[in-house]
Amino acid sequence: MTTSFFGAGSSFERNRRPPPPGPAAARAPSLSEVDFERSPFLVIWETTQACDLACVHCRAEARPERDRRELSTVEAKALMRRVRSFGRPLFVLTGGDPAKRPDLVELVAYGAELGLRMGLTPSGTPLVTPELIAELRSVGLSRLAVSLDGPTPAQHDGFRGVDGSYDWTLGMLKAAREVGLSTQVNTTVSRRTISDFEAMAKLVDGLGISLWSIFFLVPTGRARMEDLPSADEVERIFERMYELSAEVPFDIKSTAAPQYRRLIVQKQVEERREGSRSAAPSPMTAGVGFSLSDGVGRARGVNDGNGFLFVSHRGDLYPSGFLPLAAGNVRDQDIVNLYRDHEMFRTLRDPHRLKGKCGSCEFRSICGGSRARAWALTGDPLESDPLCTHVPARYRKRVERGEAEGVQAYFANRIPGWGHRAGSPPRKSAQLPVLPSAVLSRWDRSRRDGTDES
Ligand code: SF4
Repeated sequence: MTTSFFGAGSSFERNRRPPPPGPAAARAPSLSEVDFERSPFLVIWETTQACDLACVHCRAEARPERDRRELSTVEAKALMRRVRSFGRPLFVLTGGDPAKRPDLVELVAYGAELGLRMGLTPSGTPLVTPELIAELRSVGLSRLAVSLDGPTPAQHDGFRGVDGSYDWTLGMLKAAREVGLSTQVNTTVSRRTISDFEAMAKLVDGLGISLWSIFFLVPTGRARMEDLPSADEVERIFERMYELSAEVPFDIKSTAAPQYRRLIVQKQVEERREGSRSAAPSPMTAGVGFSLSDGVGRARGVNDGNGFLFVSHRGDLYPSGFLPLAAGNVRDQDIVNLYRDHEMFRTLRDPHRLKGKCGSCEFRSICGGSRARAWALTGDPLESDPLCTHVPARYRKRVERGEAEGVQAYFANRIPGWGHRAGSPPRKSAQLPVLPSAVLSRWDRSRRDGTDES
């Protein structure tokens, strides 16, 4: 879906000449040094829409056949060269199923030779054999990420729409382990799967992974608003993620829920006050596994269009795969210029442009809410993310002064059908500590100058 964000009259200069590679290309900065105004941490390319699965929530609305308008091998290599001029972002080949492309190994080898850190998210099908995994590892793949959405074959296969996907997925993880390839498991939290969380945590604990990425549903593609869990349910999952992160030997992160970083900081401030934590609070340092050994790492505050880019199979450039607002197309426009200069990307990176309680929030620089979920539910990517229990003190005061609507009325007035979800008042986060202003100003400063003091 290609949608203009600001329409005609945008200040974006379409034909500007791409600048020569700057110092970022000459020196690979540490991940925490990446200045998101200049470079993304993560670039995801949807290699194809083709996929043999039929997942109930599929973002890509995938189908078995490839689209003739996909980027060609030559175009994909040109894209990777331009991405390399950002520095060394993580470049992830996703889909659909990237294993449906016959040039997969060639593309991974090319990106690795350029110096990109290459990731791959194939679908759980028989297309990815142990031999293919070994070959991908040998040409420079840094990490293999697979989706596991249920703790049993019946639950996972029901979610993915094809019998056997669970076993194929576990087989891929085993094959990767055997050749020493780092792995990641992606798990979707929706109303349908949320009660399986503890069983999922037990399952992934035995898989030898580097990272468990927990994705909180965005109602785009085949996903529906009815599939969304409530903000309270999500907060309880965050709390379990935080507890687990101190126990398990791998990293745990949220995807499409930056408000988990808010909870991490609130917990750490609380622990510091109680004397059980000596280090300064930081959203980068939850748990024991935050420092990853495979060099892929994790950035400090990625959000849609802010440290994050998504290129569709036809070359359209989006802030993320769940925010399908096209800034341009990489076939005839420069990805570097688009990311740095396009009005939409600049706006998404500016926390002062946020609306509602996200706009009044003391955590907006490290969180900012999911811009994709705000857009999917309200049609405005700058609106508040409703899957967050936190109500900033500044927003409460605005409500008391009659300058803003109460939280439930705010969302009911902007999200069709939201009214029936009202009545779940802010719970735990209201009891968590207020963030010290010194910590906040440090993050604001590090965000502006591209350094990280955590
Ligand atoms: S109110 Fe918005 S910015 Fe603040 S923590 Fe929640 S989602 Fe993040």
